Amino acid sequence: MRYTAPLLNHHADGTLCPTDHRHTTTGKPRHADCPGRVYSSARCTCGVWEMTHPFKGYVNECRKRHLASHPRPEGASALRALLRLT
Ligand SMILES: [Zn+2]
Ligand SMILES: [Zn+2]
Repeated sequence: MRYTAPLLNHHADGTLCPTDHRHTTTGKPRHADCPGRVYSSARCTCGVWEMTHPFKGYVNECRKRHLASHPRPEGASALRALLRLT
């Protein structure tokens, strides 16, 4: 099973800031209905890990680190092949 942990952006009231809410490089919203991204969150489909943080880059980094901690199917079969050899 492959796990995913999509990165989500939120407004101050907790509602989702969808990807079509574009922001300028300084973080100012360009979308008329967008009050601005206040925090980001990510939740892994394994159901164990989730996090919320104001820095999008930080959430993204932790998300990738967490996903890397899950054993990959390819890795498991490589290990089985190794065990057969010994
Ligand atoms: Zn928004
Ligand atoms: Zn996970």
